[in-house]
Amino acid sequence: MPGAVLGNFEISLVRSATYWWDGGAFFGVVPKTLWSRRAPADELNRIPAGFNSYLIRTDEHTILIETGGGDKMDPRALERMKLPPIPEPLPDAIARHGFDPEAIDIVINSHLHWDHCGGNTILSADGAAARPAFPKARYFASRGEWEHAHERLIRDGVSYIDANYDPLVESGQMTLVDGDYEIAPGIRMRPAPGHNRDMMVVTAESAGQTFCFLSDLVPLAAHLQPSWVAAFDLYPLQAIETKTRWLAAAAENNWLCAFAHDPAIDFARIVKHPKTGFAVAE
Ligand SMILES: [Zn+2]
Repeated sequence: MPGAVLGNFEISLVRSATYWWDGGAFFGVVPKTLWSRRAPADELNRIPAGFNSYLIRTDEHTILIETGGGDKMDPRALERMKLPPIPEPLPDAIARHGFDPEAIDIVINSHLHWDHCGGNTILSADGAAARPAFPKARYFASRGEWEHAHERLIRDGVSYIDANYDPLVESGQMTLVDGDYEIAPGIRMRPAPGHNRDMMVVTAESAGQTFCFLSDLVPLAAHLQPSWVAAFDLYPLQAIETKTRWLAAAAENNWLCAFAHDPAIDFARIVKHPKTGFAVAE
């Protein structure tokens, strides 16, 4: 069971599924001759990626960061990603990892792309309604991101599925936060623009130690190289700047870090690297 102790917190990875996504989309202008050494592609140019969620257990709370891909993608999209036609409900995946999904009282979405909040809700059999997957939890997301989701811009509107968050906002179960926000003692959402305008990273601090969920600032460990940014980042120059700043802090202070989609690395300490800028500590 992949887990880490951080001060008074216990942090565990729940990789609810592995999906396959276009390698070119993940690495933007980086030539395939370079990225394919780090992430070998299949015959359809896809590389494996994880829906990585993290569970933080404190004295008072059980906190879930990200809820994966969920149950609202159509069968063709699921097949393209080599996912089963009926996705495993996230509470089941959490139980399969040895944790009680009922204990979760806080759910955090770093942003509202379908692959980060898809498991927030569960569709009814006829698909007409969505109920909370974690009925006892308070959910948190960025207000600016929620407003942006509803703009449905031609560039990225396809990334948003309102049934993943709107029923929670309407019922008052989801709190929309503005800027840097402390959710519980030591647990913070912090703006990290670049992937899109309002994405947040999540930090957890206990007894002088820091965990940092970098979300899509670093989707895969290969993206530790600052100039390696995804084609789907809306603001690549800002993504490079934000990423460099966060990784410098992570390396300097020996943070325990986590990536949104790496299919193999559960936790990583970051070090400066003469060639690639940053790397996972050996
Ligand atoms: Zn993502």
